[in-house]
Formats: sequence, C-alpha cells, structure tokens
Amino acid sequence: MKKKTSELTPEEWQEYRRVHRYTRLGRIRSLQKKREEYHWYKEHGICTECHHARAKPGYTLCEACAKRKWQRKKARKKK
Ligand SMILES: [Zn+2]
Repeated sequence: MKKKTSELTPEEWQEYRRVHRYTRLGRIRSLQKKREEYHWYKEHGICTECHHARAKPGYTLCEACAKRKWQRKKARKKK
C-alpha cells in the first residue's frame, strides 16, 4: 500500500524527493519558479541573467550580460 507523503519518515521523504525530482510535475514546478524569479528580478530592476548587477534602464539585463548576449547573437549570425 502506498503511503501519503505526509506520513513518510524523513528518510522516506528524502528518497521520495530524490525519485520525483525529475518527474514532469517537478520540472513544471521548477520552470514556474524560474519564471517567477525572472519577473521578480525584472520588477526590481535587477539583471535576470546574473541576478547580481542592476539592469540597464529599459532592459532586463545588466551591461555585462547584455554585451555577452549580444556577442553570442553576433557569433551565431556569422555562421
Ligand atoms: Zn547580469
């Protein structure tokens, strides 16, 4: 018989989390969290890439990350 998660011992709970980390629901949850984080940083004017520097006005990235992204874009275009 399957136990409810609330009835698991701490050891069983750890095993449960380990097993379910890569399930579909787990992935969706982590994606949602990422999106929430992105909006939080965006709203607070902090770079959404490195989460450390302040974003440039009107941008979601700081100067360094914007430059990095732009260079990546440029490199891809060359191909
Ligand atoms: Zn940055």
